Formats: sequence, structure tokens, C-alpha cells
Amino acid sequence: MNSPHLFSFGGGVQSTAALVLAATGRIDYRSFVFANVGDDSENPGTLAYVRDVAIPYAESSGLELTTLQRKRRDGTIETLLERVERSKRSIPIPVRMSNGAPGNRQCTFDFKIRPIAQELKRRGATKDNPWTVGLGISVDEIHRARTNSGIAWELLAYPLLDLKLNRHDCLALIRDAGLPQPPKSSCWFCPFHDTRTWQEMRANQPGLFEKSAALEESINEKRGRLGRDRVFFSGRCKPLREAIKETGQIEMEGCDGGYCFT
Ligand code: SF4
Repeated sequence: MNSPHLFSFGGGVQSTAALVLAATGRIDYRSFVFANVGDDSENPGTLAYVRDVAIPYAESSGLELTTLQRKRRDGTIETLLERVERSKRSIPIPVRMSNGAPGNRQCTFDFKIRPIAQELKRRGATKDNPWTVGLGISVDEIHRARTNSGIAWELLAYPLLDLKLNRHDCLALIRDAGLPQPPKSSCWFCPFHDTRTWQEMRANQPGLFEKSAALEESINEKRGRLGRDRVFFSGRCKPLREAIKETGQIEMEGCDGGYCFT
């Protein structure tokens, strides 16, 4: 690769496989950056995996794995949950409107894409000297790959697609490196979760499920005061506690999520 480059580390299966590939010299990335949407917003399991597994593994392999967070103009950190709770009118996450269509997902741009674009600039990327950002997308999710980043100083690359690796290949790479399987990486309250993911959360992480249901409720209370219709976190277009029935323990599928840019 000719241009300077780094890898956008999402904290899930595909990104971790890319980290293993870099550690074993199979792809040419030395720097990985993890855009953390907030310690109060990201799946706690992902934060623990990045802290306890991925960062130590990167360090022991001579790789850089840095965490970035969105900063306000005054330099303080803003988390996505803070923004959702503070928002009075617009909702910055892709809630389901009453017709089932997802609302805007400004969150991905503001909390994942922009912090990485700013980091590229900080490292010296310009329009005339763009940097390449590697993304962890495997062949089974090729539909998520974009050719244009929309950012003048950023090019995109897909090393897992170049190597024709699918999710199972990624899991095998992680296992062979002696690392545990990463959990799903996404905000715990993401309205892009499918029904299975919500069911898993309700069964295995009831506290997080309750927090999600309470957040959905508080958004709708605010909307009610403004005379607006209800929105939902589930594609079933019912309040979470009604849409997702209680079940017993459910085995996690270990899906990488990858709802965003990760
Ligand atoms: S995981 Fe969902 S809520 Fe979180 S940044 Fe991505 S689209 Fe937004």
C-alpha cells in the first residue's frame, strides 16, 4: 500500500481477525484505532474485550491500538448516550418510526466516522496526501463496503475482502491466535439490533435490556410532550418489553454486529 494507512478497529470478529493478520505479518497495518462511542454506550463486553484482550495482544505484537472518542469544541468527551438523553427534538440514533422505517443515523458519522477522519488529519492526512483506512468487512457482508469515504483526505481499503475471508475464516484466525471470541460490537441500545439480538439481551443481559426499554420510554415521553408519534427500538414497532418476549437463556451467536462503520 503506497499511502499512509491505519485500520478502523471495531472491536468485533472481523476487526480482531485483521489485528491477528497484522500481528502475523499477513496484512500491512501497524496502527489500529477504535472509535469508542462512549463507555456508557458501547456494549460493555466489547469495551472489556478491547481493554483486556485486544490492546494487550496488539502491544505484545508491536502494533498500536488506540482508542478515540468524540470531543466537543471545549475538548470534553461527549458520549452517544449523553447526546440521546439530551436531545429534545431530533433523535440521533436510527429509531424505528411508526411505519417501521429507520430514522436518521447521524450517530455513525458523528461518533465513529468523524473521530477517525479527525485523527487522520491530526496525523497529517490532507486532500493531496490522503490516508487509507482499512475496514473489517468480510466477504459475507460485502454489501457494507463503500468505494468512497466521502472525506477528501480518506481512502478506504478492505483487506479481508482482498484475502476473500468470510466470518468463519475470521473466527478460525482468532482461535488459532489463542484469543477468545469477541462479543458483538455495537451500542447496547442500537435500534438496528434484530429480534434475535434483543432476545439474547433480554435473556442474558436483562439489566441492559431494561436500560434500553427505559431509554425508549423516555424518548417517547419527550415526543409525547411535543405531540409527536411514538418511535421504537425494535423493528416490530412495539415497545421493547412487548416486542421481545421473555425466554430462557439463549446461546450468543457471536455476530460481529457491524451495524456501523466498524
Ligand atoms: S451501533 Fe447503532 S446506535 Fe450505535 S453508532 Fe452505530 S448505528 Fe448508531
